[in-house]
Amino acid sequence: MQMNPRLSGLRCIRCDSLWPPADYPEGCPSCLEAGHPASLECRYEPSADPSMPLPVLDPVTLGEGATPCLAAPALAQAEGVGELWLKCESANPTGSHKDRMAAQLVSRARLAGASRVAAASSGNAGVSLAAYCAAARLEADIAITRDCPPLQREAMQRFGAKLRAFEDSLSRWPYIADLCRNHGAFAGTNYLNPPVGTHAYGVEGYKPIAEELFDACGVPTDIVVPVARGDLFWGIFLGWQHLLQIGRIDRLPRMHAVEPYARLSRARAAGDARKNWEGVTDQYSIAGSTCTLQSLEVLSRSGGSPVEVSDAAAAQAQQRLERGGFATELSSAAALAAVSRLRRAGLVDAESSVVLLLTSDGRRG
Ligand SMILES: [Zn+2]
Repeated sequence: MQMNPRLSGLRCIRCDSLWPPADYPEGCPSCLEAGHPASLECRYEPSADPSMPLPVLDPVTLGEGATPCLAAPALAQAEGVGELWLKCESANPTGSHKDRMAAQLVSRARLAGASRVAAASSGNAGVSLAAYCAAARLEADIAITRDCPPLQREAMQRFGAKLRAFEDSLSRWPYIADLCRNHGAFAGTNYLNPPVGTHAYGVEGYKPIAEELFDACGVPTDIVVPVARGDLFWGIFLGWQHLLQIGRIDRLPRMHAVEPYARLSRARAAGDARKNWEGVTDQYSIAGSTCTLQSLEVLSRSGGSPVEVSDAAAAQAQQRLERGGFATELSSAAALAAVSRLRRAGLVDAESSVVLLLTSDGRRG
């Protein structure tokens, strides 16, 4: 395990400033000081090696990645699109896409000399970080909410994580901030409010999804991703951007963000991702009142749209997927409901090839 010697620096997605390779859990220092938390994007020296560059080489692994991408012709026909593909991220070791990020992030934590990782999560991220910390022999401090599903809590504890419960989602962040700023913990999630994307090295772990999709189905016209703070959304976009830069593809797919209620559309209209937009939802993995600049960047750079999907529509889509044999959590099924909305809006049609990110099967929901 070692840092990638080609990693040359990080660039701010808001102000374009360049920073030397290091840990920036709070994103761009300049933008943070100006009150606009902004993610940093990893930069690598050019190379003849066509493989997707990642920050940590030979990371701690539990076998994440290379998940199935399955054609769903019956669903494509029902939705009136040319092709529909299901990227099954529930096939990752702890059952969600988060394992890809945890592999890079926890490996970096160990290389940086940290003895523990601190994170705010009541769901898949907490379980994944707990598992990868166990594999890396690091401690995991996870701040959960009191309504954390019992099976998620139990899974984190079985992997040896230390849990602390809080009344609500936002109240966890000051606790994690204190552990990271004052007690040497490595940040496994955001802890700022307004939030910023997770550590740039962790988010890079999502880039190979783009390459796996390209190998399975070429360049789709549209990719539909359930989005909360947008790490997965941004990471997949970075992967496609890399493929474009090295000339393997000549256009980017449009990337659409699925949300339980309007956050990104309002942030986009306001030109500001920093406000809170409250809402109530059972789509647990994409709940919360905040969004991030990195999600707005994906929408503008890829030409995609935010799509709001109600719990009722998500539940109906969940049943349709189940009748085809696919178990998904509610927020993953919302991606299928989003296709219907995109179709009605005329944004996809019979010529479209659409990929849905099925982020988790909800086995611990
Ligand atoms: Zn900046």
